Amino acid sequence: MKTGLITSNSYQNHNTGAGHPEKIDRVTVIINNFNKLNNKNLIWKKPSKFKRELLENTHNKDYINFVEKSFPEKGLSFLDGDTIISPGSKEATADAVGSIITAIDGVQNKEFHNAFCAVRPPGHHAEKNKAMGFCIYNNVAVGANYLLEKYKLNKIAIIDFDVHHGNGTQDIFFNNENVLYISTHQYPFYPGSGTEKEKGKFNNILNIPLAAGTNSEEYLNAYEFVLKKLKNFRPDFILISAGFDAHKDDPLAQLQLKSKDYHTITKRTLNIAKECCDGKIVSILEGGYDLNALKESTEAHVSALLEFN
Ligand SMILES: [Zn+2]
Repeated sequence: MKTGLITSNSYQNHNTGAGHPEKIDRVTVIINNFNKLNNKNLIWKKPSKFKRELLENTHNKDYINFVEKSFPEKGLSFLDGDTIISPGSKEATADAVGSIITAIDGVQNKEFHNAFCAVRPPGHHAEKNKAMGFCIYNNVAVGANYLLEKYKLNKIAIIDFDVHHGNGTQDIFFNNENVLYISTHQYPFYPGSGTEKEKGKFNNILNIPLAAGTNSEEYLNAYEFVLKKLKNFRPDFILISAGFDAHKDDPLAQLQLKSKDYHTITKRTLNIAKECCDGKIVSILEGGYDLNALKESTEAHVSALLEFN
């Protein structure tokens, strides 16, 4: 089966400054690895351009105006304490959003069966009107709203296995019965949200907080609750906020997943996807800060996507 790989070179010009963990090399190691693997069933595509209205389904107009005016002509600017932008961030930010649109269109048009977007900046901490935690626009949320608006789908599930809680995605869909948001994350931890009590207006949020030190077996047991909720919801399309910072080698967090666990997680998710939505999955990169772990984990994730049949 064919899998889309959506990426562009613009991420190389999103400069976050020396010593910042969300660095250019993150996407470079992923791209170089897929180039080397040279799998014929991986369909490489560049992100499409999109109209600004597409962002307005997800973010406030005032916030979009603020972001557009913030990109510096030279040097670096701060959108929050750790969200840094440079002149090239404008194009990279647009391409990150554009990639999920291209991925969704490709799946809907049957160009490929599922897709992975290798982009930066990430998105899941960005709220309706706030940049946060390296995130500017909430790429996955724009994708979910695009599926509802453009393709008139009714039920979108977002699975977020990044080690951090996706406060932004939760914020955007808290009152939206058409979108189920499920997150596994280290807790207590940055950004502070993500307790089991945060359930959404329509019981459309499932938070699975995990203690620091959680290992593969414990994580995979917890992931069964993700799959159960997903199965009961029966989504028309599944989006994944694919952060790989729950890996044992990640410098920012303390969960203990191994690279191969991302294959298992993806495979199990695909099995549910197959039952309810013909296997339609689009996944987009969020965190993951150890370069070797990121290379191995994305390979494991995408190889499971490629095995779908
Ligand atoms: Zn993260």
